[in-house]
Amino acid sequence: MIVGNWKMHLDVSQASLLVHRISERIHAHQDVEVIIAPSLLTMQPISVQLDRRKFRLAAQNGYQIDEGAYTGEVSFAMLQELVHYAIIGHSERRTYFGEDLPIVRDKVAAALRNGISPILCVGETKQEKLLGESKQVLHDQVTTALSNVTSANVDQVVLVYEPQWTITTFDGVPAKPDEVESAIAFIRHQITELYGKKAAEGVRVLYGGSVNLDTVHSYLAAKGCDGVLVGSASLNYETFSNLVNIAHDHRDSRQKKDSDGNE
Ligand code: PEP
Repeated sequence: MIVGNWKMHLDVSQASLLVHRISERIHAHQDVEVIIAPSLLTMQPISVQLDRRKFRLAAQNGYQIDEGAYTGEVSFAMLQELVHYAIIGHSERRTYFGEDLPIVRDKVAAALRNGISPILCVGETKQEKLLGESKQVLHDQVTTALSNVTSANVDQVVLVYEPQWTITTFDGVPAKPDEVESAIAFIRHQITELYGKKAAEGVRVLYGGSVNLDTVHSYLAAKGCDGVLVGSASLNYETFSNLVNIAHDHRDSRQKKDSDGNE
């Protein structure tokens, strides 16, 4: 899975041009799911333009109540016709918009209630890492966010280990692949505790934070990592389409290795 988070960038015509340019450079890969998360303003025209064999859409946010007098908000109920996914719990939303654990929990439940798969971002801040609190933070974020998710729909949730200290916005440094592996293993351990081993194996877990063409190979090769969430690098059509094509090649060679191993 490769997810491009465009954040609050690009107006309608710029977004349309970016989709067009990426679309020209990638094939319809069955084995790699490519998701783009444009701004809400551009979602409708992009959804009409988009080649659905190549891309799926994600919202960057949504409101946890389905309808009502909430000026300025757009609910997951309103988004359900447009998007397959919604990014929830992103560090920028937790930090700049005060989205705490209960709000993230309610957004995850609202997305699922409306047939939208949450792309749930979890991870510690630099300060929490320095204080040795990373596991506690991951535990609290994962267990609270999933507290209204049943075992019947946990496989619709995609988790992303995206610690704040790795994100470009926060002057991040990329995580080392072994740090990603151990965080992902810990996240899967939480899912095992909550829903059992089979559910944990079925849930997709990604890494996000300063991913680029130099680092993507090592994350895709990291044990348990099912893809990447890309911020700034997703705004460059050459870089993003190369990331998608690298993921496809990586998947191809892994499948070949598996089938050689089975012969
Ligand atoms: C993000 O904010 O989701 C992200 C991954 O950003 P960047 O790749 O720019 O660090």
